[in-house]
Amino acid sequence: QCVAVCPTGALTIKSDISRVWEAINDPAKTVVVQIAPAVRVAIGEEFGMEPGEIQMGQLVAALKRLGFDKVFDTSFAADLTVMEETAEFIERFKEGKKLPQFTSCCPAWVKYAEEYAQDFLDNLSSCKSPQQMFGSVAKRFYSQDLGIDPEDMVVVSIMPCTAKKFEAQRPEFITDGVPDVDVVITTQEVASMIKKSGLVFSELGIESLDMPLGFSTGAGVIFGVTGGVSEAVLRNAYEKITGDNLDDVEFKEVRGFDGIKEAEVELDGKTVRLAVVHGLSNVGDLIKAIKKGEKEYDLIEVMACPGGCIGGGGQPTPNNTEVREKRAQGMYNCDKLSALHKSQENPMVNDFYRRWFGEENSDVTHKHLHTSYEEKQRINTKGIELNTSESSEEV
Ligand code: SF4
Repeated sequence: QCVAVCPTGALTIKSDISRVWEAINDPAKTVVVQIAPAVRVAIGEEFGMEPGEIQMGQLVAALKRLGFDKVFDTSFAADLTVMEETAEFIERFKEGKKLPQFTSCCPAWVKYAEEYAQDFLDNLSSCKSPQQMFGSVAKRFYSQDLGIDPEDMVVVSIMPCTAKKFEAQRPEFITDGVPDVDVVITTQEVASMIKKSGLVFSELGIESLDMPLGFSTGAGVIFGVTGGVSEAVLRNAYEKITGDNLDDVEFKEVRGFDGIKEAEVELDGKTVRLAVVHGLSNVGDLIKAIKKGEKEYDLIEVMACPGGCIGGGGQPTPNNTEVREKRAQGMYNCDKLSALHKSQENPMVNDFYRRWFGEENSDVTHKHLHTSYEEKQRINTKGIELNTSESSEEV
């Protein structure tokens, strides 16, 4: 039985491969799989290829042979997240309320905020993560196009970390007993499935993703690297706020591997102050500085893993700086290869707004694509609850 490790390496996590096989072998279920952005530039390493090589086509071919009914891209939902998160940010920015807005697509960061940074819970974006938005859209809307009940659809995620397994099980993401996402497996786990099935990955031809949830822009793909969410949101916010077309889509100031990156972007005469943080120790330092009044920001992107999701604990090993840099370059190459680079231009996402959602931040999107978070009690290694106010003061 294959096992994966948690992002910190502190826990051994049970494999969910058998649950995937169970779903695939159940004729009553339609099994759809979503592939997270960071997986495509790392999966090849399990088969002797170089880090950063884009192996999306081979992975799609492998998943279709394993028996998945539909193969989709989490980057579609990342584009959707950009639409909702930008609208949320613009509203807060105009009103000057609940700033800075923190991103909330990394479940390890959300958990950290619930336990250690409770003063900032209202500052977390209410957007569900792309993984959860995907599940919600697939089960509540796409299922209608297929003419099936949400209970008869199984959503499997291929993710770069085990924190996503925890996220999928959170009660916030279960509606009427039906979870947005049913099973999460890591990059390592899907590689193990492919190997055990006898498929020769390197000899598989490339195949294309299914539509409509398989179409994404480059903005949705760069979510997988630190700075990517900020850059994707800026590409949308620029056009929304200024009304002008954004020609140069690359915001290089938010790229790179510095633990805390800062940038100021002028949008229609107003300065947006950004911080991009990866690695939870850097988050602690940043929050301390904000609390002391030493730093002020409008938008903060937080990813728990070094380098962002490309460095997740479920990715192939070695997972060192050199490897992560190559995977990051792979992410930016995916963006360059994409026909479109702005989430607001994704025709499939726009079709969902036209058919189902209405505007961004509408009642429908708030019901299905947003959530809220509450303070959580910290529990120490002996199972003893720690004082919440004490834990909050630690950062
Ligand atoms: Fe998972 Fe790490 Fe990405 Fe957070 S940064 S979602 S823990 S891979």
